[in-house]
Amino acid sequence: MLGLPGFRLLAAEEVRGELEVTVETSAARVGCDACRVVATLHDRREVVVRDVDAFWRRSRLRWRKRVCRCDEPLCAARTWTERSDAIRPRQSLAERVRKEACRRVGRGESLAAVARDRGTGWHTIMKAVREHGVPLVDDPARTASVPAVGVDETSFPEGDAAPLDPLRVGAGPSDHGPVARLDGA
Ligand SMILES: [Zn+2]
Repeated sequence: MLGLPGFRLLAAEEVRGELEVTVETSAARVGCDACRVVATLHDRREVVVRDVDAFWRRSRLRWRKRVCRCDEPLCAARTWTERSDAIRPRQSLAERVRKEACRRVGRGESLAAVARDRGTGWHTIMKAVREHGVPLVDDPARTASVPAVGVDETSFPEGDAAPLDPLRVGAGPSDHGPVARLDGA
């Protein structure tokens, strides 16, 4: 149901018209990165991020992160917080939302429209496009067969266009022939 490997569902409820899904990691035991001794649960810390739509409504994930502690006296590690590639630190969007946003911008939707749809600012979407789009375009295998990587300025209305490097981000048709797209389509 979750589609988030490594997580399990704890609760789901509607909060102000949005679906809020509470999750935790499914690992039964966590080892200390430094000494491999089984860690002790020290605390929980919750983070909330926007997730992909579910059941025809906006949804968000409430992740009850474990704060772990190593009790091995000789180990330098003390406490640390769980990490996941699915919900990265200091992000307001789940990683799959950031990837989806990048694909949508790559298909020609404006940053502003995607941001509005996701209830976030365009800077957040721009950051996702930079992180997930640029590595694809930089991959030589993706651009070997196209003569130019272009940007469709209609996808980046005034205000959104300034931070982009048009040589690195392909987002739509170009005047120079076929264009490498971000979405793998
Ligand atoms: Zn340790």
